[in-house]
Amino acid sequence: GMPAAPPRPVGTRRVSRQIHVGNVPVGGDAPVSIQSMCTTLTSDVNATLQQIAELTTAGCQIVRVAVPSQDDADALAAIVRKSPIPVIADIHFQPKYVFAAIDAGCAAVRVNPGNIKQFDDKVGEIARAAKGAGTPIRIGVNAGSLDKRLLEKYGKATPEALCESALWECSLFEEHDFRDIKISVKHNDPVIMIQAYRLLAQACDYPLHLGVTEAGPAFQGTVKSAVAFGALLAEGIGDTIRVSLSAPPIEEVKVGAAILESLGLKERRLEIVSCPACGRAQVDVYTLANEVSAGLEGMEVPLRVAVMGCVVNGPGEAREADLGVASGNGKGQIFVRGKVIKTVPEAQIVETLIEEAMRIAEEMEADGAAS
Ligand code: SF4
Repeated sequence: GMPAAPPRPVGTRRVSRQIHVGNVPVGGDAPVSIQSMCTTLTSDVNATLQQIAELTTAGCQIVRVAVPSQDDADALAAIVRKSPIPVIADIHFQPKYVFAAIDAGCAAVRVNPGNIKQFDDKVGEIARAAKGAGTPIRIGVNAGSLDKRLLEKYGKATPEALCESALWECSLFEEHDFRDIKISVKHNDPVIMIQAYRLLAQACDYPLHLGVTEAGPAFQGTVKSAVAFGALLAEGIGDTIRVSLSAPPIEEVKVGAAILESLGLKERRLEIVSCPACGRAQVDVYTLANEVSAGLEGMEVPLRVAVMGCVVNGPGEAREADLGVASGNGKGQIFVRGKVIKTVPEAQIVETLIEEAMRIAEEMEADGAAS
């Protein structure tokens, strides 16, 4: 079989310093990593570990958990010990949980200086503890909890305000010779968010965690995140991403993976190339595409499957893919690596494609194992 094509770069990547979130490098030449956040109560260790396991299977590489109470802080050590991926503690309001998270061995701590009282006074202590444990800090600025001083200066959460807030907070850590930092500046408006990250990208070399905050329900949130991350990543900006959806976190991971795959920043797994159908379609393309997609879900090999409605572009696309069907006259011509291997009646298209896909996947896996 043919080796999988390597991801193609989308543009020159911004040069950022590299940090390590547990065993996951972030920044520098490290691949852009995918994050999500648990929706479980952190104090419920079993439920949280269960969700982390599901997220990991879906492709999540770094996971964040909220720490709003002492019970949550107390649960961190057990979660960190058993999680298959690095765990970041998300701390608002209470600096004492920052120290608890560092002590618990969290791979990083996210702080939102905008809502930690007397944050400036605490920075020295946090920097010392984090440095001692080798724990990086994410400075997470949010439009909704912007520093009062900057809110007064700018009137609202403008890109300049978000950027200035983040850089100011970095400078507090830098005074204590602490630079093991990554930054996020989130806003619910992709236009503001994109501009804030562009400013930040020029002003510093810290790795950047991309996020559109409160992006909304699945459909809207997916579009907003894809547009914003796409614009920035195509400019080489962004080292790790978190899609925020008002939907189960596993959806965030799938969307994040699809965004990176679309930009060639992550090796594709299954890709369905299907036509939108038009007046020429001679089969039900939507149903076909959905059924093939569902039948092949979870497939680990980078397989490209073309599902085309008619003979205009059908044979061409089907030929370019690993596997494909071009339909016409109630029949499907099945292509494997450019050659028609058989023609089947419409009712057998889906099962034939799935069968062939499984066979090709086995071959690819065997080749992979041999090389
Ligand atoms: Fe229309 Fe055929 Fe193109 Fe599908 S492949 S959009 S059916 S012309």
